Amino acid sequence: MSTPLDRGVKGYHAYGPWLREKYAGERVNKVIVDAGFTCPNRDGNKGYGGCTYCNVDSFTPALPRSLDDIREQVIQGIQRARDHYKATKFILYFQPNTNTYAQVDHLKAVYDEALNSAPGDVVGLSIGTRADCMDAKKIALLESYASRLDVDLELGMESVHEATLARINRGCTHAELTDLLESLRDSPLMLCVHTIFGFPWETREMMLAQAAEVNRFPQIRFIKLHHLHIVKGSILAAKYRKEPFPLFTLEKYTDFLCELLPLLRADIVIQRLFGLADRDLLIAPDWGLSKSLIQKHIDREIERRGVVQGGAL
Ligand code: SF4
Repeated sequence: MSTPLDRGVKGYHAYGPWLREKYAGERVNKVIVDAGFTCPNRDGNKGYGGCTYCNVDSFTPALPRSLDDIREQVIQGIQRARDHYKATKFILYFQPNTNTYAQVDHLKAVYDEALNSAPGDVVGLSIGTRADCMDAKKIALLESYASRLDVDLELGMESVHEATLARINRGCTHAELTDLLESLRDSPLMLCVHTIFGFPWETREMMLAQAAEVNRFPQIRFIKLHHLHIVKGSILAAKYRKEPFPLFTLEKYTDFLCELLPLLRADIVIQRLFGLADRDLLIAPDWGLSKSLIQKHIDREIERRGVVQGGAL
């Protein structure tokens, strides 16, 4: 007998169905653009080395990494999404590094170049950044696109605990993030927060506290949930190799998600339940499954347990 999940009904507010509904059934894909930014905790402005878990290549596909030219990245990225995923509309996703870490004139030139490379097919702009690299001028610039495109501002939250943020060399506090979120309460920008679970010193209660903190901000529309993984080239990789520490198994992470989701506001759209670095970069945890099989495993377990996003609120 088929289950609701077999018919595409999930116990949480998933991004795929949300996109299909919003764009009248069109297949919408994100196209990653690497505009060559860096981060303030990499270039010495606030520190060196970056966040301890980060190797920026681990979340950037090879194509944008290999092309300097933004226009070429957009054109080839769109063609690839058409060929591989039958996509018809596109969200340009400035993902690697901190995509508002520059003067506002430079940002405008870069975003415009990308948007002008495929004007008819692009329905959205997604900008990954940090709260400490936003200001009133940058907000105004992003809002200026919002009359013709969906503009999604993705902000690193990672942990709600200041001690964790200091320990991972974030160089940006949770207070800076919440101040920015407050200032964007009435903004047309669609706000997304990116979280990481599984820092070995954080207890389950500390991780679950993230849900209540996110719920405090009705302006948060999207969330990306991510388990901590160790990738080559990161500071944590060197520490892990010297002294391995426990990381989530797939079963334990699924169990954690089943406890977290009922605590999270039902209207928040979940863009991602877990992260998966390329095999050549991933050190641990290796769950030994493809992305789609991990997704299926988590979705089945959520259904089996009758988990409902926001069900405990
Ligand atoms: S996680 Fe983001 S802010 Fe931190 S170093 Fe990596 S790209 Fe920069």
